[in-house]
Amino acid sequence: MEVLLALGSNLGNRQEILESAWQEIGRLPQTKALRISRFHKTLPVGGPPNQPEFLNAVCTVFTMLPPQILLEKLQEIEIRFGRVRTEHWGPRTLDIDILLYGNKIISTPALTVPHPEMLHRRFVLKPAQEIAADIVHPETGKTLREHNRFINQSD
Ligand code: ADP
Ligand code: MG
Repeated sequence: MEVLLALGSNLGNRQEILESAWQEIGRLPQTKALRISRFHKTLPVGGPPNQPEFLNAVCTVFTMLPPQILLEKLQEIEIRFGRVRTEHWGPRTLDIDILLYGNKIISTPALTVPHPEMLHRRFVLKPAQEIAADIVHPETGKTLREHNRFINQSD
């Protein structure tokens, strides 16, 4: 199943963290790393002032892992990076979200796919446009290219 993931970091060496996370994702069982976008700097919205900028990316993988297992494996990767930094920088060292899992629609307490916020977030749609513009969102029937165009017209 082809999966679209979002990566974000706003603490520590963000570039190194995203690159290492991408390597780790490629080492997951039954999983093949496909493509990753450029890293986009994003000003944090809300939250306390003077927060460091986020670095965000989107990637595609092919995996045979079921969604819940994939989520657990991704959380293990988050924790592996998070733990190293926790005393100094807190928990947002690395965030990995499952945006799309093929064209599956999943709604469980642990997992909502498609990710409910993805269509409202420039820092998701812009990098997604680079590597996965033709993917069709299973709930809207529109491509990510169309969604990216739409969000850019909306302000
Ligand atoms: P957020 O990503 O919203 O900033 P967290 O990374 O702390 O917050 O995730 C909180 C919980 O969101 C996770 O424990 C996970 O079970 C749940 N979750 C629901 N849907 C998804 C998804 N599509 N991808 C990743 N986590 C998800
Ligand atoms: Mg998350």
